[in-house]
Amino acid sequence: MKKRLILLTRAACLLTSGTAAAGPDGAEHDASSFWISPITDEIFARIQGKSFKDDCTLPREDLRYLHLLHMDLNGETHEGEMIVNYHIAEDVLDIFRKLYDAKYPIEKIRLVDEYDADDEASMEDNNSSSFNFRFISHTTNVSKHGRGLAVDINTLYNPYTKVVDGERIVEPVTGEPYLDREADFPYKIDHDDLCFKLFTEHGFEWGGDWEDRKDYQHFEIPTDLINEWYPSNG
Ligand SMILES: [Zn+2]
Repeated sequence: MKKRLILLTRAACLLTSGTAAAGPDGAEHDASSFWISPITDEIFARIQGKSFKDDCTLPREDLRYLHLLHMDLNGETHEGEMIVNYHIAEDVLDIFRKLYDAKYPIEKIRLVDEYDADDEASMEDNNSSSFNFRFISHTTNVSKHGRGLAVDINTLYNPYTKVVDGERIVEPVTGEPYLDREADFPYKIDHDDLCFKLFTEHGFEWGGDWEDRKDYQHFEIPTDLINEWYPSNG
């Protein structure tokens, strides 16, 4: 899996190197394209103290800004913004390009900072996003979203759920109607879904496959690969 991911990343670099010249300032004339940028001062000002919290242990240099396009259920094109780890930037851009080409419906792709980095608010708005720094509860380990190594898609319709002390938790709370994965509704991610196929082809794991909890919106890089990339803070 590791070799495959690296190969795909290198191939994507070659493919996009000729078209990714425009930076974030070129958004007006480059709105129709998919591109990657470092976290410029302008972008950093939007995330500092929000998703890039004051105690953020991830270097700013490890993050990349993605500008992309996505299509809604009505077939209308929208611009999207996402911040991910540089290790997966080319892979994620490639996935979103293929989703767009296939007219795969995604309602919103906004920085979680537009919701003051409040995950629940972002999920209730069906927003798709990646980077939001946080430690795993009661540890000094950084979560996968905290490293920009996990991506959530169409979050309202693909909620997270777990039973804790006999009580079912659903995030977002408004996602409860979509816990029935046999029901038919838009944006549903399952094993036949193109989003599932593309992310897993690029080496991601799907939270819908977990046994002790379900996170239908969530795709992440496997822990063993992350431990190779970040050996000191597994
Ligand atoms: Zn997630």
